[in-house]
Amino acid sequence: KKVIFSGIQPSGDLTIGNYLGALKNWAALQDEYESYYCVVDLHALTVRQDSAELRARTLKNIAIYVASGLDPKKNTLFIQSHVPAHSEASWLLSCFCYMGELSRMTQFKDKSQKVGESVSSALFTYPVLMAADILLYNTDLVPVGSDQKQHIELARDLAIRFNNLYSPTFTIPEPYIGDTGARIMDLQEPDKKMSKSADNPNAYVLIMDPPDVIRRKISRAVTDDLGVVKYNESQPGISNLISILSTIAGKKPEDIEKEYDGIGYAKFKSDVAEALVEELQPLQNTVKQLLDDKPYMESIYKSGAEKASYVANKTLRKMQKKLGLIPR
Ligand code: ATP
Ligand code: MG
Repeated sequence: KKVIFSGIQPSGDLTIGNYLGALKNWAALQDEYESYYCVVDLHALTVRQDSAELRARTLKNIAIYVASGLDPKKNTLFIQSHVPAHSEASWLLSCFCYMGELSRMTQFKDKSQKVGESVSSALFTYPVLMAADILLYNTDLVPVGSDQKQHIELARDLAIRFNNLYSPTFTIPEPYIGDTGARIMDLQEPDKKMSKSADNPNAYVLIMDPPDVIRRKISRAVTDDLGVVKYNESQPGISNLISILSTIAGKKPEDIEKEYDGIGYAKFKSDVAEALVEELQPLQNTVKQLLDDKPYMESIYKSGAEKASYVANKTLRKMQKKLGLIPR
């Protein structure tokens, strides 16, 4: 079986961007692949987190993974910090990654601008840890939103570099980006991607937002005064709502354009909101049930860490040996 790895940071409550760009695709792939899905808590620490909130969100993310349809028996679900090999491999890979490569990463440029003075060095080396995450599992495919394409490209470059300098060690991973939903935009500034760490809560819909909040946020989403439901560059707000609806309904954007020909924004927005409510409500109920079952939650991430460690440690030992580190 081919291998999949992906993860989401517990850096904020998960948005429909995370759901439609990542999670929803993951569940669809679980029968075909051997899959590792991680809550990347170490990545979240690259920007300041409240400790109690980080703890709560890490567990909530595991519950959301399961509620999104990832069967813990079919997929290895774990918490990044539970598998120390990620940190160790990240150090080793950072010895082969150039400053110039990291300086070109658009995520770093965007996020470092946002945090201003206090940019951590870990925010800069974030993509190296991500490369370690991916490469430790001999990953073939990394299902992500399109914003992560550049990071996967770097993981590929590092893998190729290491393989060439030593001997074949890593599988070269490929990004897997869905046809729709790959880039859900900010509801208030539709030229930016939707992010869970945005400051304005009206910029995103959370997976766990209650129905009335979803309706309110969608009705307030920034659009335009053209009054036509069309998917095009000059209507980023409307196009984004079309993307959301098309990903949920499994329809092409063109079909949605046709469906809403001659229909106003109010009706369109209310349909988008209802589609979201309908999609998310069962998921939300499952998350709540799971979070009440602490022993079950613990059994998921503990057995996940065990399985993941076994594979990750094997790769890490190979790396160490090839680099000339003395085995214990
Ligand atoms: P942060 O703002 O803290 O970076 P984020 O919302 O960007 O949070 P990440 O944890 O960085 O979320 O990314 C997790 C996954 O969600 C990745 O696969 C990423 O590509 C995907 N993703 C994030 N935002 C979007 C979006 N707006 N549209 C589609 N996919 C997205
Ligand atoms: Mg992000």
